[in-house]
Amino acid sequence: MKEMHEQLLNWIDEERDQIIGLFRALVREKSPNPPGDTRSACDVVKRHLDEKGLDCRVEAPNPIMPNLVASLDGARPGRHLVLNGHLDVFPVDADGPKWSHDPWGAELVDGRIYGRGAADMKAGTAASIIAYCLLSRLRGHWNGRLSLTAVSDEETFGPWGAKYLLDKYPDLLGDCMLNSDVCGPEAIVFGERGPLWLEFTVQTPGDHGANVHKSKSATKIAMLVAGELEALTGTADDKEYVPHNIKNVIASGKETLDASLGAGAGDLIFQVTLNIGVIRGGTKVNMIPSSCVFETDFRLPVGMSKADLLSKIERILQKYPEVSWKEIGGAESSWCDPDHEMVGILQRNVESLGRPRPMPIIALGATDTRLWRYHGIPAYVFGCSPNGMGSQDEYVDVDEFLDVVRVHTLSAFDYLADST
Ligand SMILES: [Zn+2]
Repeated sequence: MKEMHEQLLNWIDEERDQIIGLFRALVREKSPNPPGDTRSACDVVKRHLDEKGLDCRVEAPNPIMPNLVASLDGARPGRHLVLNGHLDVFPVDADGPKWSHDPWGAELVDGRIYGRGAADMKAGTAASIIAYCLLSRLRGHWNGRLSLTAVSDEETFGPWGAKYLLDKYPDLLGDCMLNSDVCGPEAIVFGERGPLWLEFTVQTPGDHGANVHKSKSATKIAMLVAGELEALTGTADDKEYVPHNIKNVIASGKETLDASLGAGAGDLIFQVTLNIGVIRGGTKVNMIPSSCVFETDFRLPVGMSKADLLSKIERILQKYPEVSWKEIGGAESSWCDPDHEMVGILQRNVESLGRPRPMPIIALGATDTRLWRYHGIPAYVFGCSPNGMGSQDEYVDVDEFLDVVRVHTLSAFDYLADST
């Protein structure tokens, strides 16, 4: 085992430039979602595997959103490990603060690689690809099957991406899944809160602004409803949504979350949170608005279902017959075993690089890993820090990236080497 680790680490050192080159090539291929066109990024992955002489196939139920799938078999039958990463990224906010580097340039400055999607998650997807390629050279030394899935459509819940693949090819669930989306090397994500996106529409007759006796105001009603929705946030309620031992593990990850996402992040894991991302209503200052639409982004603590929250929302709306709503996106929260063998493997390999032991945490945002957990498959995220994610000057520290490559490569090997 030790010899194999040394071999893998030597290859990573020897091929450092090529590994960094793959990551930068992925960043340079623009793949913002919307529109989610990942064709050129997927071509980079396919070319890389072709150059290594490794077979793969591309599944594209939506022609602009290809998904690359590749599998390798080891020496003997055994367990199946799936490596998963996404190719689509956030858009660049044209109205937001200006970037000091080209968001699609993958510039390497002072040991950092800048770019939209560098952290979320082209560094991670590159790490999965490298791990896959390096393990292909040691096929006589591990058992079972290793699969690589580089998917599209992750930012919008994956109907054309991971969800499509798993529905069509349930074999890709495997026995365990490893993903390297952002989380920071001090953490291992074993569960995620559940996003619930709703659109509310308020409709009233409307009238002249002076005639408030004639019509209710759609914008005022929207504000009242928004206030009541906000009151649902904070501590969820006293209901036990997860087993006590899991709750303890979640609680012990608070400091790690604060360290990786900033002070206050850890307090959110047991809370319902609300962002009102969009609000539109009214035409003119002296007209009573007849319509107002607003979109809410709730995040639910692990174990609390969408139905739990929707029943509370429906109770509120009974007082407001002018309001209708629909779900425009969402996913149930998920969690898996924080004491699974893969968590121990990741912790050992991170420590072997001289880094502190990473702690299992619940992520505030959602990733495709939930799709595996819904099927009862243990699925973990270990990846780079979320520097500038979703804002400007997103970057990844090159040394951190290389350590993420090392940890994924060694951990995939360890899981399969122990496989019988
Ligand atoms: Zn991501």
